Amino acid sequence: MPMFVDDSPAGECIFCKLVTGEIPSAKVYEDELTIAFMDIGQATRGHVLVASKRHAANLLELTPEETGAVMQTAQRVAAAVNQAFDPDGINIFQANGAPAGQTVFHFHLHVLPRYTCDGLAITWQRQEPGMPVLDELAARLRQALA
Ligand code: 5GP
Ligand code: ZN
Repeated sequence: MPMFVDDSPAGECIFCKLVTGEIPSAKVYEDELTIAFMDIGQATRGHVLVASKRHAANLLELTPEETGAVMQTAQRVAAAVNQAFDPDGINIFQANGAPAGQTVFHFHLHVLPRYTCDGLAITWQRQEPGMPVLDELAARLRQALA
């Protein structure tokens, strides 16, 4: 099982301090399980982070209830972003582990308003390995899910 680096214990990481108000944030929304606030580094205008209130390093550490709650908050925030900033599109982005681009090891997802020609590039190279390989990969996942 992959181990993701969590270098900040519960209560001591920057987002835990943001949840308690120990460090300031431009808060957008909060409920029992989640909090939404403006990303300090705006990748595009209106870039919001949705985090679990409880310290969980990444997606795999969320409870099912928290997992549902963060996506409900993301949808709510996305609707508000759409109304407030009238973007041309919206990305939801979420990183787990440093190689995946995670820099703060307290679960959060990005609500990223997109504007035509905003210059933000989210790209990857696609491979089509064919059905035998896809079937083998799917079989491994079905086994892991069982
Ligand atoms: P990640 O790279 O882990 O997916 O995203 C971490 C995000 O947290 C970055 O986009 C970064 O700008 C944001 N961030 C880091 N420190 C702070 C902070 O103190 N306050 C706020 N509001 N955002 C932060
Ligand atoms: Zn934390």
